[in-house]
Amino acid sequence: MANLEPCPVCRNQPSHPIKLPCSHIFCFLCAKGAILQNPKCPLCRTNISPSFLNNPHLIQTESIPEITDLNIEYHWFYEGYDGWWLYDKQTSTEIENAFQNQEPFVELLIAGFIYVIDFEEMAQYRKEVPGKVRKIQRAKTDPKIKGIAGLKTSSFPIQI
Ligand SMILES: [Zn+2]
Ligand SMILES: [Zn+2]
Repeated sequence: MANLEPCPVCRNQPSHPIKLPCSHIFCFLCAKGAILQNPKCPLCRTNISPSFLNNPHLIQTESIPEITDLNIEYHWFYEGYDGWWLYDKQTSTEIENAFQNQEPFVELLIAGFIYVIDFEEMAQYRKEVPGKVRKIQRAKTDPKIKGIAGLKTSSFPIQI
């Protein structure tokens, strides 16, 4: 399959690409970050309901196997309502690197917000909203996985 155009937000090959109703294509996390802050397509300003992010239209491309091809032994998860979300590959790699370096916490930009990943509490929270804490875990597998970074597993096959 042909490569997609670069994501208009981050200028990289789209990671977990989704197509908005206006048919523009972005990384899932880039679109999520933009739409949560301003519910419009970042490119053409078409109104996009934030609820669109709950059931996004994922585009099948060669980049999809990248989701499952996490070339690491341990995976990082954060707590959802009835299971665990796997962090996306880039975030997972950054968390694992900080953990391996025995840093007490790491701050990461995820979908437009700064999150603190706290290894002592094994929790994550938004830096500006420290009250909203989610548990995190480092594990080889988890049977109650919901999906990746807010993308439900029903959108694509996943094996870890
Ligand atoms: Zn992007
Ligand atoms: Zn658009």
